[in-house]
Amino acid sequence: MYQRYMRPVVFVFLGLVGLWVGSSLFSYFTYNIVPDVRIEGLEQGGVYKGTMHGSIHANTGYKIASVSITIDDKPFEVEGVRSVRAKEFSIPFELDTTELSQGRHLLKIESVDSSYNANRSSEQIEFFVDNVPLKAAFLQQELRVDQGRTLHPKFKVNKTVVNAKVKVFSKTYDCYPDTEGSTVYESFIPIDCEQSSDEYIMSLDVTDKVGNTVTLANAIKINEVSFPKQKGFYVPPEKLNDEKEISMNNKILSEALEKWLSNSPKNKLWSGPFEQPTVVRRISTPYGEIRITPEKGRYLHRAIDIVNTPKSVVWASQNGKVIIKDRYLMTGNTIVLDHGLGVFTKYFHLDDFADIEVGDLVKKGAPVGRLGMTGYANGYHLHWELTINGVPVDPLEWTKTVF
Ligand SMILES: [Zn+2]
Repeated sequence: MYQRYMRPVVFVFLGLVGLWVGSSLFSYFTYNIVPDVRIEGLEQGGVYKGTMHGSIHANTGYKIASVSITIDDKPFEVEGVRSVRAKEFSIPFELDTTELSQGRHLLKIESVDSSYNANRSSEQIEFFVDNVPLKAAFLQQELRVDQGRTLHPKFKVNKTVVNAKVKVFSKTYDCYPDTEGSTVYESFIPIDCEQSSDEYIMSLDVTDKVGNTVTLANAIKINEVSFPKQKGFYVPPEKLNDEKEISMNNKILSEALEKWLSNSPKNKLWSGPFEQPTVVRRISTPYGEIRITPEKGRYLHRAIDIVNTPKSVVWASQNGKVIIKDRYLMTGNTIVLDHGLGVFTKYFHLDDFADIEVGDLVKKGAPVGRLGMTGYANGYHLHWELTINGVPVDPLEWTKTVF
């Protein structure tokens, strides 16, 4: 009885065992997929200080036989990794970078699976060690600046930083290397002509690639300037009515400039001093002159008005990118150039435009248009304005000082 019923069961069982052994052997001899063993938590090209944390991670189709790790071709022991005998694992490790030299290192990982083919994979991660403390120092002891001028703080750091900002008047300004790769950083801070003459504290925050930070403070003093009062300024209302027919509202210009400002190149497009954009026969309105008009009330003229022969050529005062070429109610035919780092020059009331288009890069001295009296103007002149992050400063300072 027993044999009669059990015999087929035993045959089936032996058959299944045979199949399992057969398929395992088949898999053992034929498996040829490269093992997927990776280092996680470390960034290719990353910079590290103190203790680095990472993990060895595997998710493979065949058991891993061994994993070997080296740093700069010297063995690096991670407990439990040498013979893991598993398909999936995640083993954390720590690496004390103070035992490594400053600078570049190479971490290599090699894994072999336990199949007949001993499939191998390898990965390498380049990383940098930086255990040097960050240092920064202002290059100027005391900063003094007139209302309407440009404050130009500079500081030196002992290594490349990833973030450098100065804060003053509750505004934040980015700092940039003064030349490519330099460890002297600078910033251009516009001092509005109505910023009250006082002493302020400017703070500097720098952060290096490994997250060290330094904060410094420096006093700045703003000197009062007595800006002249204009005798009288009048634009006939009929002229403005005519302009309305053919011009866009200046609000559109402001909005466009704000958009362009956020895209201003993070490097200087300019070199050397800025040039006056046309021959100056006379400056009819200097920077900062106090004006009272029926349309705008009391305001300070934050630009210079240059009088020259009607329709004479107006030149780009520096290398820059054309960002505005349009006609607006107040500013008339308007060109605005972006010189990088948020520094713009503006050319208003042009008679017509030179053969340039928005997006063009123009050289210092290239024509941008001809001197006119379009927009809110009562005579032929060029209104020339220089703004930093949207704040107009005295443009003549930029023709005398190389920033
Ligand atoms: Zn003007």
